[in-house]
Amino acid sequence: MKSLVSHEGMRCANCDTPLVGEFCHECGQSVHSVLKPVYYMVEETVETVLHIDSRILHTLPPLFLRPGFLTLE
Ligand SMILES: [Zn+2]
Repeated sequence: MKSLVSHEGMRCANCDTPLVGEFCHECGQSVHSVLKPVYYMVEETVETVLHIDSRILHTLPPLFLRPGFLTLE
């Protein structure tokens, strides 16, 4: 769920227009920074390289230990 955050008093970093919402109504600049923390980039890299998520951990053991189970599910 998206939280309600007031941007009152903030100004656009691009054109210095007072902001009403999350985007500048003059130039479309977002309030949110495109700069991400290092741990976010590491997480994205690991996920991209390994392409492993939690679903595969729930899929592989039954696939090898209980043949037919996933097909019936
Ligand atoms: Zn702007």
